[in-house]
Amino acid sequence: MFRQELKKLEEQGLLRKLREVGSAQGARIILDGKEVINLCSNNYLGLADHPKLKEAATEAIKKYGTGASASRLISGTTTLHKKLEEKIAGFKGTEAALVFNSGYAANVGIISALVSRGDVIFGDKLNHASIVDGCILSGARLKRYPHCDMAALEKMLQENNGGRRLIVTDTVFSMDGDIAPLPEIVKLAKKYDCMLMVDEAHATGVLGENGKGAIEHFNIKEKDIIHMGTLSKAIGTFGGYVAGSGELIEFLYNKSRAFIYTTALPASVIAASIAALDVIENEPGLRRQLWDNIRFFDKNSSTQIIPVLIGDNEKALKISMRLLDEGVFIQAIRPPTVPKGQARLRITVMATHTKEDLQTALDKLRKVINEEA
Ligand code: PMP
Repeated sequence: MFRQELKKLEEQGLLRKLREVGSAQGARIILDGKEVINLCSNNYLGLADHPKLKEAATEAIKKYGTGASASRLISGTTTLHKKLEEKIAGFKGTEAALVFNSGYAANVGIISALVSRGDVIFGDKLNHASIVDGCILSGARLKRYPHCDMAALEKMLQENNGGRRLIVTDTVFSMDGDIAPLPEIVKLAKKYDCMLMVDEAHATGVLGENGKGAIEHFNIKEKDIIHMGTLSKAIGTFGGYVAGSGELIEFLYNKSRAFIYTTALPASVIAASIAALDVIENEPGLRRQLWDNIRFFDKNSSTQIIPVLIGDNEKALKISMRLLDEGVFIQAIRPPTVPKGQARLRITVMATHTKEDLQTALDKLRKVINEEA
């Protein structure tokens, strides 16, 4: 059975392979034994290999050891967990915050606690899979509106009443790199008295004057927003979070099964996250460097995620393999991660890329795409 399914995937150009990385997650990595320019990392600021984060993690291991031993509510909440949550709340400008074990767990755990059968969720068609899984798990009715289509969202809001209502959206879309029209979404949430949850996974550390995300980018001051994000991308460590009112946070740590029934993240990961937020606050030059690199690579891009649409699965895969032969690592992203017929190369720019590496990548990209056209 497994073999047949795998063969089917292979025939459709959808088979995936795990590649081995033998180095830290830098702008260049050792991939399957060979050094390549890395253009598919979400480590946007290069913090995953930052000396201050590594030092903080090492010190925490010396003090707390390697494992957290139990769930947060049993005995897994260290002083560092509390400190990180206060720091996240301060960074996001909310009363409180709660750390989950990953961004995936956060989305699944938050959404399934907020709504249930009889409720309605309104979500962008291109929302991340972890949001979709949270919606499915919740048992609420999911209404998916066409990507960033505010007229369609408003119509759905008018037509779907009853129960609790939640609007949920990525702020920077993970495979397209565009930014959700948040000011309009906030207005609609208010007008139709809906809860609003935003996933700032790809915006935190990148957008806004202080790297606080798309909410800062749009200068949105609304207090009732549920801010979700991950520590595993620009923050350079691991874990997810939610930030919002004190009441929301207390509700979630009492109700969210993805928070309650899992062992806490180890203190080393938490310590590194605290150090990362310090770096983001104290070293704005890193973010400027990232934006300088984004502009160098593609002056029209609104974020660090730059998709090159190919369409056909096999073709996207072939271009990605040929680029790898040339020393440039750019993943081919295929369905179901993106819609059918929209296979693409997903390029991500980092603060720590050199201009030379970016220029090499651009040259190789042009060459291979022209040759495969
Ligand atoms: N939300 C979005 C928009 C994402 O892109 C991702 C990760 N790809 C997640 C949530 C999940 O975060 P994590 O990797 O920390 O589980």
